[in-house]
Amino acid sequence: MTFLNTKEFAQELDKQDELSSYRNEFSFPQVNGKNVIYFTGNSLGLHSKRAKKYVDEVMTDWENLAVEGHFYSEKPWWDYHERFANPLSKIVGALPSEVTVMNTLTVNLHLMMVTFYKPTAKRFKILCEAKAFPSDQYMIQSQVKFHGLNYEDAIVEIQRREGEHNIRLEDILSKIEEVGDELALVLIGGVNYYTGQVFNMKTITEAGHKAGAYVGWDLAHAAGNIKLNLHDWDVDFAAWCSYKYMNSGPGNASGCFIHEKHHNDTSLSRFAGWWGHNKERRFKMEPTFDPVRGAEGWQISNLPILSLAPYLASVEMFDEIGMEALINKRNVITSYLEFILKEISKEVNGSFEIITPSSQEERGCQLSVLLHGEGRSLFDYLMKNGVITDWREPNVIRLAPVPLYCSFEDMYNFGQILKKGIVK
Ligand SMILES: *Cc1c(COP(=O)(O)O)cnc(C)c1O
Repeated sequence: MTFLNTKEFAQELDKQDELSSYRNEFSFPQVNGKNVIYFTGNSLGLHSKRAKKYVDEVMTDWENLAVEGHFYSEKPWWDYHERFANPLSKIVGALPSEVTVMNTLTVNLHLMMVTFYKPTAKRFKILCEAKAFPSDQYMIQSQVKFHGLNYEDAIVEIQRREGEHNIRLEDILSKIEEVGDELALVLIGGVNYYTGQVFNMKTITEAGHKAGAYVGWDLAHAAGNIKLNLHDWDVDFAAWCSYKYMNSGPGNASGCFIHEKHHNDTSLSRFAGWWGHNKERRFKMEPTFDPVRGAEGWQISNLPILSLAPYLASVEMFDEIGMEALINKRNVITSYLEFILKEISKEVNGSFEIITPSSQEERGCQLSVLLHGEGRSLFDYLMKNGVITDWREPNVIRLAPVPLYCSFEDMYNFGQILKKGIVK
Protein backbone atom coordinates (compact mmCIF):
# COMPACT_ATOMS: atom_id res chain seq x y z
CA MET A 1 0.00 0.00 0.00
CA THR A 2 1.28 3.48 -0.82
CA PHE A 3 0.80 5.74 2.17
CA LEU A 4 0.34 9.49 2.25
CA ASN A 5 1.15 11.82 5.10
CA THR A 6 -2.16 13.70 4.97
CA LYS A 7 -5.15 13.94 7.24
CA GLU A 8 -7.52 12.94 4.41
CA PHE A 9 -5.56 9.76 3.72
CA ALA A 10 -5.48 8.82 7.42
CA GLN A 11 -9.23 9.41 7.69
CA GLU A 12 -9.81 7.22 4.66
CA LEU A 13 -7.88 4.37 6.34
CA ASP A 14 -10.06 4.83 9.43
CA LYS A 15 -13.18 4.54 7.27
CA GLN A 16 -11.96 1.23 5.88
CA ASP A 17 -10.98 -0.08 9.32
CA GLU A 18 -13.26 -2.92 10.42
CA LEU A 19 -12.21 -2.50 14.04
CA SER A 20 -12.85 1.25 14.25
CA SER A 21 -16.03 0.87 16.34
CA TYR A 22 -14.06 -0.69 19.22
CA ARG A 23 -12.36 2.64 19.85
CA ASN A 24 -15.62 3.92 21.36
CA GLU A 25 -15.61 1.18 23.96
CA PHE A 26 -12.45 2.55 25.57
CA SER A 27 -11.89 5.61 27.76
CA PHE A 28 -9.05 7.94 26.87
CA PRO A 29 -7.42 10.41 29.26
CA GLN A 30 -8.11 14.03 28.22
CA VAL A 31 -5.60 16.79 27.56
CA ASN A 32 -6.82 20.25 26.55
CA GLY A 33 -10.37 18.82 26.40
CA LYS A 34 -9.45 16.17 23.82
CA ASN A 35 -8.73 12.43 23.83
CA VAL A 36 -5.01 11.84 24.06
CA ILE A 37 -3.09 9.92 21.41
CA TYR A 38 -2.30 6.85 23.48
CA PHE A 39 0.91 5.00 22.64
CA THR A 40 1.43 3.19 25.95
CA GLY A 41 -0.98 0.28 25.61
CA ASN A 42 2.15 -1.91 25.80
CA SER A 43 2.52 -0.70 29.37
CA LEU A 44 -1.07 -0.30 30.56
CA GLY A 45 -4.00 -0.92 28.23
CA LEU A 46 -7.00 1.44 28.38
CA HIS A 47 -10.09 1.10 30.54
CA SER A 48 -13.11 -0.30 28.71
CA LYS A 49 -16.82 -0.01 29.42
CA ARG A 50 -17.16 -3.80 29.33
CA ALA A 51 -14.45 -4.18 31.96
CA LYS A 52 -16.31 -1.77 34.24
CA LYS A 53 -19.58 -3.62 33.68
CA TYR A 54 -18.03 -6.97 34.63
CA VAL A 55 -16.51 -5.54 37.81
CA ASP A 56 -19.84 -3.92 38.71
CA GLU A 57 -21.56 -7.30 38.30
CA VAL A 58 -19.24 -8.92 40.80
CA MET A 59 -19.70 -6.06 43.26
CA THR A 60 -23.48 -6.36 42.96
CA ASP A 61 -23.44 -10.13 43.38
CA TRP A 62 -21.25 -9.79 46.44
CA GLU A 63 -23.60 -7.12 47.82
CA ASN A 64 -26.71 -9.25 47.24
CA LEU A 65 -25.51 -12.79 47.71
CA ALA A 66 -22.42 -12.69 49.92
CA VAL A 67 -21.00 -16.21 50.32
CA GLU A 68 -23.76 -17.69 48.18
CA GLY A 69 -22.18 -15.85 45.26
CA HIS A 70 -19.66 -18.68 44.98
CA PHE A 71 -22.42 -20.87 43.56
CA TYR A 72 -25.40 -18.67 42.72
CA SER A 73 -23.99 -15.59 40.96
CA GLU A 74 -24.78 -15.30 37.31
CA LYS A 75 -21.14 -16.23 36.77
CA PRO A 76 -20.40 -18.36 39.86
CA TRP A 77 -17.09 -17.57 41.51
CA TRP A 78 -15.98 -21.09 42.33
CA ASP A 79 -15.28 -21.88 38.67
CA TYR A 80 -15.09 -18.31 37.32
CA HIS A 81 -11.56 -18.86 35.98
CA GLU A 82 -12.73 -21.73 33.79
CA ARG A 83 -14.44 -19.18 31.54
CA PHE A 84 -10.99 -18.10 30.36
CA ALA A 85 -9.84 -21.44 29.00
CA ASN A 86 -11.53 -21.26 25.60
CA PRO A 87 -11.02 -17.63 24.59
CA LEU A 88 -7.54 -17.41 26.09
CA SER A 89 -6.38 -20.63 24.43
CA LYS A 90 -7.16 -19.07 21.05
CA ILE A 91 -5.18 -15.93 21.86
CA VAL A 92 -2.01 -17.88 22.64
CA GLY A 93 -2.49 -20.89 20.34
CA ALA A 94 -3.04 -23.57 22.95
CA LEU A 95 -5.51 -26.26 23.99
CA PRO A 96 -8.03 -25.01 26.54
CA SER A 97 -6.59 -27.41 29.14
CA GLU A 98 -3.13 -25.87 28.67
CA VAL A 99 -4.02 -22.36 29.88
CA THR A 100 -5.24 -20.85 33.08
CA VAL A 101 -5.23 -17.52 34.92
CA MET A 102 -3.72 -17.00 38.35
CA ASN A 103 -1.37 -14.83 40.41
CA THR A 104 0.75 -12.23 38.62
CA LEU A 105 3.41 -12.61 35.97
CA THR A 106 6.66 -12.75 37.93
CA VAL A 107 5.01 -14.98 40.52
CA ASN A 108 3.92 -17.40 37.80
CA LEU A 109 7.38 -17.49 36.28
CA HIS A 110 8.75 -18.38 39.71
CA LEU A 111 6.17 -21.15 40.01
CA MET A 112 7.02 -22.44 36.55
CA MET A 113 10.69 -22.52 37.51
CA VAL A 114 9.82 -24.62 40.54
CA THR A 115 8.56 -27.17 38.04
CA PHE A 116 10.92 -26.72 35.11
CA TYR A 117 14.22 -25.62 36.59
CA LYS A 118 15.74 -28.65 38.28
CA PRO A 119 19.49 -28.09 38.15
CA THR A 120 21.84 -31.07 38.46
CA ALA A 121 25.64 -31.07 38.85
CA LYS A 122 25.98 -31.39 35.10
CA ARG A 123 22.92 -29.56 33.74
CA PHE A 124 22.29 -26.32 35.59
CA LYS A 125 22.52 -23.36 33.21
CA ILE A 126 19.77 -20.94 32.25
CA LEU A 127 19.93 -19.10 28.96
CA CYS A 128 18.29 -15.67 28.81
CA GLU A 129 18.65 -12.40 26.92
CA ALA A 130 21.09 -9.72 28.03
CA LYS A 131 19.24 -6.67 29.39
CA ALA A 132 16.04 -8.61 29.95
CA PHE A 133 13.23 -6.82 31.76
CA PRO A 134 14.56 -6.22 35.30
CA SER A 135 11.92 -8.36 37.02
CA ASP A 136 12.97 -11.34 34.89
CA GLN A 137 16.63 -10.80 35.76
CA TYR A 138 15.91 -10.62 39.49
CA MET A 139 13.64 -13.62 39.25
CA ILE A 140 16.22 -15.79 37.49
CA GLN A 141 19.05 -14.66 39.78
CA SER A 142 17.04 -15.43 42.89
CA GLN A 143 16.05 -18.87 41.58
CA VAL A 144 19.67 -19.73 40.89
CA LYS A 145 20.63 -18.55 44.38
CA PHE A 146 17.78 -20.56 45.86
CA HIS A 147 19.39 -23.69 44.42
CA GLY A 148 22.71 -22.74 46.01
CA LEU A 149 24.35 -21.86 42.71
CA ASN A 150 26.45 -18.89 41.77
CA TYR A 151 24.64 -16.88 39.17
CA GLU A 152 27.74 -15.95 37.23
CA ASP A 153 28.20 -19.67 36.53
CA ALA A 154 24.58 -20.55 36.03
CA ILE A 155 23.19 -17.67 33.96
CA VAL A 156 24.19 -17.35 30.32
CA GLU A 157 23.12 -14.12 28.65
CA ILE A 158 22.80 -13.69 24.90
CA GLN A 159 24.40 -10.42 23.89
CA ARG A 160 23.71 -8.06 21.05
CA ARG A 161 26.60 -7.58 18.66
CA GLU A 162 28.60 -4.39 18.93
CA GLY A 163 26.67 -1.52 17.34
CA GLU A 164 23.46 -3.57 16.84
CA HIS A 165 20.14 -3.00 18.58
CA ASN A 166 18.62 -6.46 18.16
CA ILE A 167 19.73 -9.96 19.00
CA ARG A 168 20.43 -12.25 16.06
CA LEU A 169 18.67 -15.60 15.88
CA GLU A 170 21.91 -17.27 14.75
CA ASP A 171 23.63 -16.02 17.92
CA ILE A 172 20.89 -17.50 20.11
CA LEU A 173 21.09 -20.84 18.31
CA SER A 174 24.87 -21.06 18.48
CA LYS A 175 24.82 -20.16 22.19
CA ILE A 176 22.30 -22.96 22.84
CA GLU A 177 24.57 -25.40 21.04
CA GLU A 178 27.63 -24.15 22.85
CA VAL A 179 26.08 -24.58 26.31
CA GLY A 180 24.76 -27.97 25.13
CA ASP A 181 24.36 -30.58 27.85
CA GLU A 182 24.89 -28.02 30.62
CA LEU A 183 21.73 -26.23 29.54
CA ALA A 184 18.77 -26.77 31.89
CA LEU A 185 16.40 -24.03 30.78
CA VAL A 186 15.90 -21.40 28.08
CA LEU A 187 13.79 -18.49 29.34
CA ILE A 188 13.45 -15.40 27.15
CA GLY A 189 10.88 -12.66 26.58
CA GLY A 190 8.99 -13.54 23.37
CA VAL A 191 8.93 -9.86 22.41
CA ASN A 192 11.71 -7.68 23.77
CA TYR A 193 10.12 -4.94 25.89
CA TYR A 194 12.68 -2.29 24.90
CA THR A 195 13.16 -2.76 21.17
CA GLY A 196 9.93 -4.56 20.26
CA GLN A 197 11.91 -7.36 18.58
CA VAL A 198 9.90 -10.58 18.19
CA PHE A 199 11.94 -13.75 18.64
CA ASN A 200 11.50 -16.85 16.53
CA MET A 201 9.97 -18.89 19.32
CA LYS A 202 9.41 -22.02 17.25
CA THR A 203 13.03 -22.34 16.14
CA ILE A 204 14.50 -21.40 19.53
CA THR A 205 12.20 -23.86 21.32
CA GLU A 206 13.26 -26.62 18.96
CA ALA A 207 16.94 -25.84 19.49
CA GLY A 208 16.53 -25.77 23.29
CA HIS A 209 14.85 -29.18 23.23
CA LYS A 210 17.55 -30.57 20.99
CA ALA A 211 20.09 -29.60 23.63
CA GLY A 212 17.96 -31.42 26.21
CA ALA A 213 16.64 -28.32 28.03
CA TYR A 214 13.17 -27.09 28.92
CA VAL A 215 12.03 -23.94 27.10
CA GLY A 216 9.73 -21.29 28.59
CA TRP A 217 8.67 -17.83 27.43
CA ASP A 218 7.77 -14.60 29.16
CA LEU A 219 4.98 -13.30 26.93
CA ALA A 220 4.33 -9.96 28.66
CA HIS A 221 4.69 -8.06 25.39
CA ALA A 222 3.49 -10.88 23.17
CA ALA A 223 0.07 -11.97 24.48
CA GLY A 224 -2.68 -10.15 22.64
CA ASN A 225 -0.10 -8.60 20.33
CA ILE A 226 1.41 -11.27 18.08
CA LYS A 227 0.39 -14.62 16.66
CA LEU A 228 1.32 -17.38 19.07
CA ASN A 229 1.17 -21.14 18.60
CA LEU A 230 2.43 -22.34 21.94
CA HIS A 231 1.06 -25.86 21.62
CA ASP A 232 2.39 -26.54 18.12
CA TRP A 233 5.72 -24.93 18.90
CA ASP A 234 6.01 -27.47 21.73
CA VAL A 235 6.80 -24.76 24.30
CA ASP A 236 7.04 -26.25 27.81
CA PHE A 237 5.58 -23.27 29.67
CA ALA A 238 4.80 -19.59 29.29
CA ALA A 239 3.29 -16.78 31.32
CA TRP A 240 2.09 -13.26 30.56
CA CYS A 241 0.53 -10.30 32.28
CA SER A 242 -2.89 -9.10 31.20
CA TYR A 243 -2.68 -5.37 31.82
CA LYS A 244 -0.56 -4.51 28.75
CA TYR A 245 -2.12 -5.46 25.40
CA MET A 246 -5.02 -7.21 27.12
CA ASN A 247 -6.43 -4.18 28.93
CA SER A 248 -7.35 -5.90 32.19
CA GLY A 249 -6.37 -3.06 34.53
CA PRO A 250 -3.32 -2.10 36.61
CA GLY A 251 -1.23 -4.90 38.07
CA ASN A 252 -3.80 -7.48 37.13
CA ALA A 253 -3.73 -11.27 36.96
CA SER A 254 -1.42 -13.30 34.78
CA GLY A 255 -2.11 -16.05 32.29
CA CYS A 256 -0.12 -19.25 32.32
CA PHE A 257 0.49 -22.02 29.77
CA ILE A 258 1.75 -25.52 30.52
CA HIS A 259 2.09 -27.91 27.62
CA GLU A 260 -0.24 -30.91 27.57
CA LYS A 261 2.67 -33.33 27.51
CA HIS A 262 3.45 -32.40 31.14
CA HIS A 263 -0.09 -32.68 32.50
CA ASN A 264 0.04 -36.30 33.61
CA ASP A 265 3.61 -36.23 34.86
CA THR A 266 3.06 -36.29 38.60
CA SER A 267 6.82 -36.55 39.16
CA LEU A 268 7.19 -32.85 38.32
CA SER A 269 7.49 -30.76 41.45
CA ARG A 270 5.17 -27.87 42.05
CA PHE A 271 4.01 -25.65 44.88
CA ALA A 272 0.49 -26.83 45.53
CA GLY A 273 -2.71 -25.42 47.00
CA TRP A 274 -6.33 -26.46 47.23
CA TRP A 275 -7.41 -24.77 43.97
CA GLY A 276 -5.12 -27.12 42.01
CA HIS A 277 -6.71 -30.16 43.63
CA ASN A 278 -9.04 -32.60 41.88
CA LYS A 279 -12.16 -30.53 41.24
CA GLU A 280 -14.78 -33.11 42.11
CA ARG A 281 -13.11 -33.61 45.45
CA ARG A 282 -11.95 -30.07 46.24
CA PHE A 283 -14.47 -29.46 48.99
CA LYS A 284 -14.02 -32.87 50.61
CA MET A 285 -11.01 -31.39 52.40
CA GLU A 286 -8.86 -34.48 51.83
CA PRO A 287 -5.32 -34.64 53.20
CA THR A 288 -3.46 -35.68 50.02
CA PHE A 289 -2.98 -33.47 46.97
CA ASP A 290 -4.29 -34.89 43.71
CA PRO A 291 -3.62 -32.30 40.98
CA VAL A 292 -6.08 -31.47 38.23
CA ARG A 293 -4.63 -32.85 34.98
CA GLY A 294 -4.08 -29.59 33.14
CA ALA A 295 -2.71 -26.09 33.68
CA GLU A 296 -5.30 -25.68 36.44
CA GLY A 297 -3.36 -28.23 38.44
CA TRP A 298 -0.82 -25.46 39.09
CA GLN A 299 -3.45 -23.21 40.72
CA ILE A 300 -2.81 -22.53 44.37
CA SER A 301 -5.42 -20.24 45.91
CA ASN A 302 -9.06 -19.54 45.20
CA LEU A 303 -9.14 -16.75 42.67
CA PRO A 304 -9.42 -12.96 43.05
CA ILE A 305 -12.73 -12.59 41.23
CA LEU A 306 -12.69 -8.80 41.26
CA SER A 307 -9.49 -8.78 39.28
CA LEU A 308 -10.51 -11.56 36.95
CA ALA A 309 -13.70 -9.72 35.99
CA PRO A 310 -12.10 -7.02 33.75
CA TYR A 311 -9.71 -9.61 32.33
CA LEU A 312 -12.67 -11.81 31.36
CA ALA A 313 -14.35 -8.87 29.64
CA SER A 314 -11.14 -8.38 27.69
CA VAL A 315 -10.59 -11.97 26.56
CA GLU A 316 -14.20 -12.11 25.41
CA MET A 317 -13.61 -9.00 23.32
CA PHE A 318 -10.49 -10.56 21.81
CA ASP A 319 -12.49 -13.69 21.07
CA GLU A 320 -15.18 -11.68 19.31
CA ILE A 321 -12.60 -9.98 17.09
CA GLY A 322 -10.13 -12.84 16.61
CA MET A 323 -6.35 -12.47 16.56
CA GLU A 324 -6.23 -12.52 12.78
CA ALA A 325 -8.28 -9.34 12.32
CA LEU A 326 -6.36 -7.68 15.10
CA ILE A 327 -3.00 -8.59 13.58
CA ASN A 328 -4.11 -7.43 10.12
CA LYS A 329 -4.88 -3.96 11.45
CA ARG A 330 -1.78 -3.99 13.63
CA ASN A 331 0.40 -4.56 10.58
CA VAL A 332 -1.15 -1.68 8.67
CA ILE A 333 -1.23 0.83 11.50
CA THR A 334 2.34 0.01 12.63
CA SER A 335 3.56 0.38 9.05
CA TYR A 336 1.66 3.65 8.74
CA LEU A 337 3.28 4.96 11.91
CA GLU A 338 6.68 3.86 10.56
CA PHE A 339 5.96 5.74 7.34
CA ILE A 340 4.92 8.88 9.23
CA LEU A 341 8.06 8.72 11.35
CA LYS A 342 10.24 8.42 8.27
CA GLU A 343 8.47 11.34 6.57
CA ILE A 344 8.87 13.56 9.63
CA SER A 345 12.48 12.47 10.06
CA LYS A 346 13.19 13.69 6.51
CA GLU A 347 11.49 17.01 7.25
CA VAL A 348 13.59 17.56 10.36
CA ASN A 349 16.86 16.36 8.80
CA GLY A 350 16.96 12.79 10.03
CA SER A 351 17.22 13.35 13.72
CA PHE A 352 15.79 9.97 14.67
CA GLU A 353 16.11 6.29 13.96
CA ILE A 354 13.72 3.33 14.45
CA ILE A 355 15.53 0.52 16.28
CA THR A 356 12.70 -2.02 16.05
CA PRO A 357 13.22 -4.57 13.24
CA SER A 358 11.57 -3.47 10.01
CA SER A 359 10.23 -6.87 8.94
CA GLN A 360 6.71 -7.79 9.99
CA GLU A 361 7.79 -11.23 11.24
CA GLU A 362 10.17 -9.64 13.68
CA ARG A 363 7.93 -7.01 15.20
CA GLY A 364 4.46 -6.60 16.62
CA CYS A 365 2.73 -3.46 17.75
CA GLN A 366 5.64 -1.35 18.90
CA LEU A 367 8.20 0.96 17.37
CA SER A 368 11.10 2.09 19.52
CA VAL A 369 12.60 5.31 18.28
CA LEU A 370 16.07 6.58 19.09
CA LEU A 371 16.02 10.39 19.09
CA HIS A 372 19.46 11.75 18.33
CA GLY A 373 20.09 15.04 20.04
CA GLU A 374 16.66 15.19 21.69
CA GLY A 375 16.17 15.07 25.42
CA ARG A 376 13.38 14.59 27.86
CA SER A 377 12.02 18.02 26.95
CA LEU A 378 10.62 16.48 23.76
CA PHE A 379 8.76 13.88 25.80
CA ASP A 380 7.37 16.65 28.02
CA TYR A 381 6.33 18.61 24.94
CA LEU A 382 4.48 15.56 23.56
CA MET A 383 2.71 15.03 26.91
CA LYS A 384 1.62 18.66 27.08
CA ASN A 385 0.25 18.34 23.58
CA GLY A 386 -1.80 15.25 24.27
CA VAL A 387 0.53 12.43 23.21
CA ILE A 388 1.31 9.80 25.83
CA THR A 389 4.48 7.90 24.98
CA ASP A 390 6.95 5.94 27.03
CA TRP A 391 10.31 7.57 27.56
CA ARG A 392 13.43 5.54 28.34
CA GLU A 393 16.64 7.29 29.29
CA PRO A 394 18.67 8.57 27.60
CA ASN A 395 16.65 9.13 24.42
CA VAL A 396 14.32 6.33 23.32
CA ILE A 397 10.56 6.64 22.99
CA ARG A 398 8.46 3.55 22.66
CA LEU A 399 5.28 3.84 20.61
CA ALA A 400 2.59 1.18 20.56
CA PRO A 401 -0.20 1.97 18.08
CA VAL A 402 -2.59 -0.56 19.63
CA PRO A 403 -4.99 -1.74 16.90
CA LEU A 404 -7.98 -2.07 19.24
CA TYR A 405 -8.27 1.62 19.99
CA CYS A 406 -5.71 3.70 18.06
CA SER A 407 -6.77 5.37 14.83
CA PHE A 408 -4.87 6.20 11.68
CA GLU A 409 -5.74 9.84 12.22
CA ASP A 410 -3.95 9.57 15.59
CA MET A 411 -0.81 8.59 13.68
CA TYR A 412 -1.09 11.55 11.33
CA ASN A 413 -1.75 14.00 14.19
CA PHE A 414 1.15 12.56 16.16
CA GLY A 415 3.51 13.22 13.23
CA GLN A 416 2.48 16.87 13.12
CA ILE A 417 2.92 17.34 16.88
CA LEU A 418 6.29 15.54 16.82
CA LYS A 419 7.55 17.78 14.03
CA LYS A 420 6.59 20.94 15.93
CA GLY A 421 8.22 19.52 19.08
CA ILE A 422 11.52 19.01 17.27
CA VAL A 423 11.57 22.18 15.19
CA LYS A 424 10.30 24.50 17.96
C1 LIG B 1 5.70 -5.97 32.19
C2 LIG B 1 6.68 -7.06 32.35
C3 LIG B 1 6.79 -7.74 33.57
C4 LIG B 1 5.97 -7.33 34.77
O1 LIG B 1 5.86 -8.33 35.72
P1 LIG B 1 4.78 -8.26 36.88
O2 LIG B 1 5.07 -9.45 37.67
O3 LIG B 1 3.41 -8.27 36.23
O4 LIG B 1 4.97 -6.99 37.62
C5 LIG B 1 7.70 -8.80 33.65
N1 LIG B 1 8.46 -9.16 32.57
C6 LIG B 1 8.36 -8.50 31.38
C7 LIG B 1 9.20 -8.92 30.23
C8 LIG B 1 7.49 -7.42 31.26
O5 LIG B 1 7.42 -6.77 30.10
